Amino acid sequence: MAKRKSMSSKMASRKKPAPKLDTTFCCPFCNHPGGVSCTIDLKLYVASAVCYVCQEAYHTAAHHLTEPVDIYHDWIDACEKANQGVDAGDYCLKRQRRVGSGDDSDSDA
Ligand SMILES: [Zn+2]
Repeated sequence: MAKRKSMSSKMASRKKPAPKLDTTFCCPFCNHPGGVSCTIDLKLYVASAVCYVCQEAYHTAAHHLTEPVDIYHDWIDACEKANQGVDAGDYCLKRQRRVGSGDDSDSDA
């Protein structure tokens, strides 16, 4: 009776970039440092990131584990996705509002 043990352990060691939680970030639109501030409304489950300089804003769904940095990264992500469908050269365009269709999981490449 030979039993083979296959070891398949996926250890995802995630480093925490900073112990302190930032709530202000560099604006992806006007590049103003600290221009973006994030707020999380756990009553409405809505998270908002707003730049007080250029008034750009991003809203997304929030939950109890949502942190300001998550909102910000979400925003950057959305910007990058929007920029992918745009010819390089045009920097500040109208943002296309795209509803992500499924497949939002981390693909382990
Ligand atoms: Zn801005």
